Amino acid sequence: MTEPILRVENLHTIYQGEERNVYAVNGISFSLNEKETIGLVGETGAGKTTTALSIMQLLPDRIGKITEGKIFYQGENLLEKNKEEIRLIRGACISMIFQDPMTALNPVMTVGDQIHESLSIHNYDNLPEEELQKRVDELLTLVGIPANRKKEYPHQFSGGMKQRIVIAIALACKPKILIADEPTTALDVTIQAQVLVLMEELQKQLGMAMIMITHDLGVVAATCDKVAIMYAGEILEYGTVEDIFAGERHHPYTKGLFEAIPSLDSHSRRLKPIEGLMPDPADLPPGCRFHPRCPYCREDCKTGAPYLFERNGHQIRCNLFQEDTAI
Ligand code: SF4
Repeated sequence: MTEPILRVENLHTIYQGEERNVYAVNGISFSLNEKETIGLVGETGAGKTTTALSIMQLLPDRIGKITEGKIFYQGENLLEKNKEEIRLIRGACISMIFQDPMTALNPVMTVGDQIHESLSIHNYDNLPEEELQKRVDELLTLVGIPANRKKEYPHQFSGGMKQRIVIAIALACKPKILIADEPTTALDVTIQAQVLVLMEELQKQLGMAMIMITHDLGVVAATCDKVAIMYAGEILEYGTVEDIFAGERHHPYTKGLFEAIPSLDSHSRRLKPIEGLMPDPADLPPGCRFHPRCPYCREDCKTGAPYLFERNGHQIRCNLFQEDTAI
């Protein structure tokens, strides 16, 4: 079997506070093959963005800390690399786009200069200026923006176009993996689909793998091959998009997420919100992290953490699936 392009093993990440620590990611494992897309899904505070920042090693200085685990990129553990080696990998091999294009772009720099800057940081072939400018034009065209607009500033573009520019910057060095953190959340609904279609086309064209971080199951169904449902820093369910959307066996939390989605026939059924709130990551409940909100909670769920049970690659962390193989 070929080695996945990215393999995350038992990752634990904390934010160290003066009085207490925040346990943001608590022992997650997943893998990503070349050209594949995995969706990291969950409510705010589930640990999705911290997972991405851990992979990119962009955790806030002094506060954010990976306390355990391994992150393999093309078979090499990124956590054993030094700062300079990571700097070379970031952007050129693994790139990330953030939720809000306005904070990702520099308001006082033309969009062309911002793409140019990203290209020149990794200009290992010492391409002459003329070639770099040609590449800026190509990247703008690739994301559907006329190259003659490169001398304009971010405020001269609409929200959707700004996100396209952010994507162009992220793709400047032809990364092998693109991490997209809620890439359409800040956009109008009509523009969201355009940006998702563009990302899908670019992924095929450039042969990238992608990590799609979202709370939107519709986005996952439309774009992903594999899905990890995250909650309180853990993966509660992990499988193919078919396992999650067409399968019948689901973690109670995943079931709750589906029941809470409005649909065209929701006038004929009542929407059921998941009762309660995500636990405080600085004060996680004992046993199953979901037990205070789970309608199927049993006595043993309140004390011991449930194992991850697996059937045909579909993993569920829940005591209701004890007839499957524990891993
Ligand atoms: Fe619910 Fe228990 Fe399963 Fe947790 S382990 S999801 S509390 S049934």
